[in-house]
Amino acid sequence: MSRPLRMHIDEAALRHNLRRARQAAGDSRLMAVVKANGYGHGLVRVARVLAPDVDAFGVASLDEARSLREAGIRRPLCLLEGVFAPEELAALGPLGLQAVFHQDIQLDWLDGFSGGTPFDAWIKIDTGMHRLGFPPQRLPAVLRRLRAHPAVGEIRLMSHLACADDRSDPATAAQLAAFRACLADTGLEGSLANSAGLLGWPGARLDWVRPGLMLYGASPFAGETGAQQGLRPVMQLDSALIAVSRQPAGARIGYGGSWTCPEDMPVGVVAVGYGDGYPRHAPTGTPVLLDGAELPLIGRVSMDMICVDLRARPGARVGDPVRLWGEGLPVERVAAAAGTLAYELLCHVGPRRLEGEAVRACSGGDSVRRAE
Ligand SMILES: *Cc1c(COP(=O)(O)O)cnc(C)c1O
Repeated sequence: MSRPLRMHIDEAALRHNLRRARQAAGDSRLMAVVKANGYGHGLVRVARVLAPDVDAFGVASLDEARSLREAGIRRPLCLLEGVFAPEELAALGPLGLQAVFHQDIQLDWLDGFSGGTPFDAWIKIDTGMHRLGFPPQRLPAVLRRLRAHPAVGEIRLMSHLACADDRSDPATAAQLAAFRACLADTGLEGSLANSAGLLGWPGARLDWVRPGLMLYGASPFAGETGAQQGLRPVMQLDSALIAVSRQPAGARIGYGGSWTCPEDMPVGVVAVGYGDGYPRHAPTGTPVLLDGAELPLIGRVSMDMICVDLRARPGARVGDPVRLWGEGLPVERVAAAAGTLAYELLCHVGPRRLEGEAVRACSGGDSVRRAE
């Protein structure tokens, strides 16, 4: 048996979540956000599944955009942080990319760019997140500068919500009002809503919505799982027991001996660890799923292994499948136990998978196939 860790991507669930986003979006156009390797699910793979029913994709870098073009994805692609260097401007038109402009230096680079194939631009307005964007009062001047450039085609406005995951936070209504004023002043199309904005703030839908997380089946709202929003988990992270032992009362489990067996009991070892993207800070009690039962992780997470309390499944044996998250065990639950967000857990599984190392990506019904 090869190392049994597998990531299975449920493409039907991905399509289902897109339909759910479409339904919430109403008549708004939809830019599916696939940055960070499709939130760890595989950039090209996710884009291929979603492409038939999205209006554009949002990515974080020219590299991601190039990968999508090389894979034959023809939808408009938006660089959500714009260009990082002046040399990147020349790639926009030929590749059919849209670029966000969020600071003056990007406009300076544009002034030094002689142009070529036109590209569409988004002006990012800082309506209260105070991360990227021009203050609203700068909008007329920025707009003039962009309009004066021969390479700039259509111009739209974008802003980002800081607190939309908390439905009771008044900051969102204030951001929406500030953004609406920008739209009214200019008559341009606008986009404000991420997943939380789309699901929780109907007024924020505007012309374009930009869901990311919800497409992958997780809820953006604290204390909630995707199922409560009619979503289905796309990533299934599965491994297996690679060792089972009986440990006596008083045995201390794993690094630092941080957990002590209260009685003579069965302990299992699962092949997954922080080297695979499993959260290192997941404490004792973090659930894993074995044979329909949620079993608690015990002791510290190792690089390649975790230990679990098998008392609820004393008959468990080496080779038994263990689900780390996915259908039946929402990634949001694991994230909450580990003091982090579903976003982080999903993204972190990606890189090592790309290198073809620990986590094997499987499609369709291949998820349990094991190399000889
Ligand atoms: C990542 C991102 C999104 C998607 O956010 P989710 O919370 O995953 O839905 C939308 N817009 C911008 C600018 C982003 O960077």
